[in-house]
Amino acid sequence: MLRLAVQKSGRLQEGSLNLLKESGLHFSNGKDQLKTPALNFPVELLFLRDDDIPQYVEDGVADAGIVGENIFLEKQKAGELVKRLGFARCRLSVAIPRNEEYTGTAWLNGKNIATSYPNLVRKFLQDKNISAGIHEISGSVEIAPGIGLADAICDLVSSGSTLLSNGLKEAETILHSEAILIANKYLSSDKRDLLNQLVFRFEAVQKAQRNKYILLNCPNDSIEAIINILPGMKSPTILPLALPGWSSLHSVVDEDDFWNKIDQLKKLGAQGILVIPIEKMIV
Ligand code: ATP
Ligand code: ZN
Repeated sequence: MLRLAVQKSGRLQEGSLNLLKESGLHFSNGKDQLKTPALNFPVELLFLRDDDIPQYVEDGVADAGIVGENIFLEKQKAGELVKRLGFARCRLSVAIPRNEEYTGTAWLNGKNIATSYPNLVRKFLQDKNISAGIHEISGSVEIAPGIGLADAICDLVSSGSTLLSNGLKEAETILHSEAILIANKYLSSDKRDLLNQLVFRFEAVQKAQRNKYILLNCPNDSIEAIINILPGMKSPTILPLALPGWSSLHSVVDEDDFWNKIDQLKKLGAQGILVIPIEKMIV
């Protein structure tokens, strides 16, 4: 049984549980419990505060965990970064009062920075050779300049609207973060096996999310040109249409690429283009 820590409630929870669900794991409805076993895979979820997850993974109370990279790096606990998961993207940024003119990192010299990330801020200041005070607070960091507690803050930003409504502006980004899978470094081989199976499933889900199944009709004399545009996983499938001279072509395409390719496909006479989501993809 692999014990996997996920956030009890908050911004990481939905993405973590969705990924597990899409990976085929089912849980009895247990969000209010401390732990719940999967019904069809030897995994047990532990619901914890995100800040505690790196410590639990270091101690081996949890074998693995899903946590923001920001928390993993800040906590400086032993553990292995197994896989980036692509959700809960945000950045850790220094922000200063909007009416200040930011002149580069030197602006921070001699200033006081409020943050919940003292280790990451200290490292940033050292790298930039800046001497500034760090005032550690655990929440509502964005109000610190307004109440005279600090000159600047360093906190997570996604849209920037929280900064704006507190009269702040982003000055430096010190880290780009997303959800990651971490694991204890000394897993037994049985647990390592389970972790690898889980990662395999995560990868199948991630690949499927990036790709779409595409079907189109085309004149037979464009098939070759279209295969060059849509090479697919190994090679597209071609099926004859009942209409002579026409075929149906099936392939796989990266969703971002699809929009770039659509004009070329139309010029080659492609019609009836269907783009369909893929649930799992194993190459
Ligand atoms: P907990 O009660 O578990 O300690 P929390 O209040 O510390 O929760 P959340 O606000 O739920 O944490 O954020 C959890 C993680 O989600 C962050 O550490 C970060 O990795 C990620 N995240 C993504 N976008 C944002 C954002 N806009 N603001 C804050 N965190 C974000
Ligand atoms: Zn937290």
